[in-house]
Amino acid sequence: MSLRPILETRRAIPAMEGAGVKLHRVFGFQDPTELDPFLMMDDFRNERPEDYIRGFPWHPHRGIETITYVLSGTVEHGDSLGNTGTLGGGDVQWMTAGSGILHQEMPKGNAQGQMHGFQLWGNLPSSQKMTAPRYQDVKGSDIPEVIDDDGTRVKVITGEFWGKRGPVDGIAADPQYLDIAMPAGVKKTFRIDTYRRAFAYVFDGAAAFADASQPSGVLLEKEVAGQEVNIRDLSGNRTLIRFGSGDEVTVQAGPDGVRFLLISGAPINEPVAWHGPIVMNTQQELMQAMRDLRNGSFIKPQH
Ligand code: MN
Repeated sequence: MSLRPILETRRAIPAMEGAGVKLHRVFGFQDPTELDPFLMMDDFRNERPEDYIRGFPWHPHRGIETITYVLSGTVEHGDSLGNTGTLGGGDVQWMTAGSGILHQEMPKGNAQGQMHGFQLWGNLPSSQKMTAPRYQDVKGSDIPEVIDDDGTRVKVITGEFWGKRGPVDGIAADPQYLDIAMPAGVKKTFRIDTYRRAFAYVFDGAAAFADASQPSGVLLEKEVAGQEVNIRDLSGNRTLIRFGSGDEVTVQAGPDGVRFLLISGAPINEPVAWHGPIVMNTQQELMQAMRDLRNGSFIKPQH
């Protein structure tokens, strides 16, 4: 057993996306290798409808997977294959864009006007960038939750954990996507296979994550009230923790408990050519995608 060192902790930063949605970018659009096979993550928790209601109107994706996890509120979606639907609290949509999809994602909020959720982008290896598009829509009630004696609760969205297997399957990056809640003071070690690249994202409360060089852990501070200008964060921290290599992560929940995502996957280790919502291996492939968009051949007929 070896503890994974903490390479970096950093706060998500305010960003604007879509038709004017205020969100927080956890990582992405900088160094695509740092969390390979993951390219980007946005935290779209928001308390003000005017800051998210314009949503993400029709746009293309190619070469990646987008993983939307809704905590609260709803997201209405539609796509070029003719699918339409609504994601609600606890639901996950795993979209394999593959060769190309046009879709829109419109957050609607809950009765209190809140919209909470995350979108993660996973890369596809060159062999699957032009695979047929696919959706896996998963109801929150179909996501297994394991509850330990100490009150720790783990929702297994994908991958295997404590004997439960998440409902999303067939994903190239072999991801393990866990939503973990730990009561105040509880300390726990989570195994993560050595071949995986791993990160945690604290979005409620605080915790100490043990570092190989500081095994007693670094307690993350709670968000300071009023520090955010436009978004009232009612749920604590927005902190990314990037882990180095090893096979376990030890966490001790702070005085208010903690909730965090623990996500890992197998690095793809291929060149990345990235333009907005399209991520390929080469500039030529990016240019081809632009040509396909212009001449109407971006969406391949489905067999
Ligand atoms: Mn999209």
